[in-house]
Amino acid sequence: MTPASRHGGVIVVGSLNLDLVATADRLPRPGETVTGSSYAEHPGGKGLNQAIAAARAGAPTQMIGAVGADQAGRQLLDAAATGGVDTSSVRTVEHAPTGRALISVDQRGENSIIVVPGANGAVTAEHITPPVARPTGARVMLCQLEIPLAAVKASLDAARSADVLTVLDPAPATDLPASLLELVDVIAPNEHELQLLGGVDRLLDAGVGAVLVTLGADGAVLHRPGQPPVGQESFSVDVVDTTGAGDAFRGAFAARVAAGATHDEALPHAAAAGALATTVAGAVPSLPTRPAIEAMLDR
Ligand code: ADP
Repeated sequence: MTPASRHGGVIVVGSLNLDLVATADRLPRPGETVTGSSYAEHPGGKGLNQAIAAARAGAPTQMIGAVGADQAGRQLLDAAATGGVDTSSVRTVEHAPTGRALISVDQRGENSIIVVPGANGAVTAEHITPPVARPTGARVMLCQLEIPLAAVKASLDAARSADVLTVLDPAPATDLPASLLELVDVIAPNEHELQLLGGVDRLLDAGVGAVLVTLGADGAVLHRPGQPPVGQESFSVDVVDTTGAGDAFRGAFAARVAAGATHDEALPHAAAAGALATTVAGAVPSLPTRPAIEAMLDR
């Protein structure tokens, strides 16, 4: 991809996982084996999902991350490329397997999950800084917390130096030091993550530029220092599976801001993308395209 073609683009630094999903009548207890009823493999990882979400929402999107030198890694690179993501900065490492999520689901939809980061744990500052420093015209960086915290910090540092706006999805939930928070322009937690992070005021006091809280079917609220909160209602849809809604929301928000929209202008696009993602089963298959998002906004 030429530098000019990424103008207004999004850089996603994050995880790529192969999700291995087994369903059974009930989940096994420790030491127990149960017979399952179905099995499927899907591309996943918050990084990959959000990169495909941003690309489908219309942004030239580059992913930075790592996979193992194995079949799963090749499968994920294919899925990213098919989703319109530039994978030239996804590194293939020899010393670790591709990240996996082992997901068991019972008949009520209850699940238990083991995530093995594998190659995602091998993402380092040396790997991130050169592609971010390249003058590509990318406007927004989107990160999550499924790679080492030191790599997230290095990403945010590199983005600040390159004048790229930083958006952080603080998931999976963990407390974050002020030294990292002060590098974040927009943090986008759900209610549970917000609570773990100490609430809106603590985040704004730590130097975060804006706090965008997602509330599932109740929509989202944007908080900024010294301004009244801005609410975004959710779009009413027939929900099939909420998997992928948060990734669609954050990817579409980043894509609109990268295209030059203000945070307020990007909110309806993000909410439309989140709602559309609930109408289709799975994560990657449910991420909506820009025409679908615009059709929802015109509805
Ligand atoms: P997360 O998966 O990170 O917890 P949420 O569940 O809050 O994210 O969903 C992200 C966004 O997707 C919400 O802010 C909302 O705009 C949209 N969304 C989620 N669930 C629904 C729903 N049931 N109906 C309509 N929109 C939804």
